[in-house]
Amino acid sequence: MKFNDTLKSIKLYEAGKPIELVVREFGVPKENVVKLASNENPLGPSKRVQEVICAYASKANLYPDDSMYELKDGLSKKFDVASSQIAIGAGSDQILEFISRALLSKEDSVLMSQVTFAMYEIYAKQMGATILRTPSYEHKVDEFLKLYAEHKPKIVYLCIPNNPTGDAMKKSDALEIIKAVDEETLVVVDCAYMEYAAYKDSAYKIEPKDILELPNVIYLGTFSKAYGLGGMRVGYGIANEEIIQNILKMRPPFNISTLSLAAAIEALKDEVYLEQALKLHTEQIKRYETFAKENGIKYIESYTNFITYLFDDSRNSSDVANKLLQRGVIVRDLASYKLNAIRITIGTESQNDILFEQLSEVMDLK
Ligand SMILES: *Cc1c(COP(=O)(O)O)cnc(C)c1O
Repeated sequence: MKFNDTLKSIKLYEAGKPIELVVREFGVPKENVVKLASNENPLGPSKRVQEVICAYASKANLYPDDSMYELKDGLSKKFDVASSQIAIGAGSDQILEFISRALLSKEDSVLMSQVTFAMYEIYAKQMGATILRTPSYEHKVDEFLKLYAEHKPKIVYLCIPNNPTGDAMKKSDALEIIKAVDEETLVVVDCAYMEYAAYKDSAYKIEPKDILELPNVIYLGTFSKAYGLGGMRVGYGIANEEIIQNILKMRPPFNISTLSLAAAIEALKDEVYLEQALKLHTEQIKRYETFAKENGIKYIESYTNFITYLFDDSRNSSDVANKLLQRGVIVRDLASYKLNAIRITIGTESQNDILFEQLSEVMDLK
């Protein structure tokens, strides 16, 4: 069978390894597996949200409200934008897909940093677009502006803070890029981890309002990380009406399930949970910084719910990640991003205890 030529250069997305795989392949008992690989919220979903999900189980026969009125209303109040400026996706991933399909063709190029969220490339390649990357893994203003001026890409992706490295651009730097780009180019500002960055340092806080005066920007957010709902698949895009109305033409009906919609509406109201999650994270990430310093491991200053440990030539990240895996600890090896590094999602206190213990043994630190 002949598939589209555009598919030839696409590599399958490599998701964080599931707990089930470690149980199957290494015989680690399920309750001993520690998964710190997919940037999930270690607190689990909020109790209030769990109750709502249970309550809605009896309504699973009904399609959800396809207008998503209540969720858009909640987001519109939170961010002080109109409901007509909001699109809801099955994860912000689906918004990325809508954007790609709405804008790109074979003649277009897209610009992103050297090491960033893998799905930007996959969705753009599905449309046959050319991928341009800056030389550095950090988002650097001059590198973005130089490549933008040379190629006039159709989309510029700013991942703030960036996955899988954890670093972030300051709001003022992001604005410098956004303002330099003309109206023919869409700037995607992917803020999947913004709750963590904003909590850490207000100089890194970007809100949709800060960028929406410009006609060619879309802000992406998600319930998958700080709100603890990765498995429910709910994300959003916020932009001016023209952009939103056009990308919504790509949306299938009922793209969010009845349970997911109810869960997201409740999650938005549960501010106590969000605060609790951010506090736990802030306490626990300090332990990772201390551990790294004490053991001479370099790390990237993180504005997200994970930390990236960079290894020197005496170690191999794949080797470290595999040895941890055999011991039931799942982290993300960044070798496929050409970084000799591992990305570790910050877990609960006890999960982190296990990580430190196992990592010390695997790296022979004691
Ligand atoms: C997790 C993540 C997303 C979106 O995840 P969804 O679960 O699809 O909402 C988007 N961008 C980045 C950089 C992420 O890390």
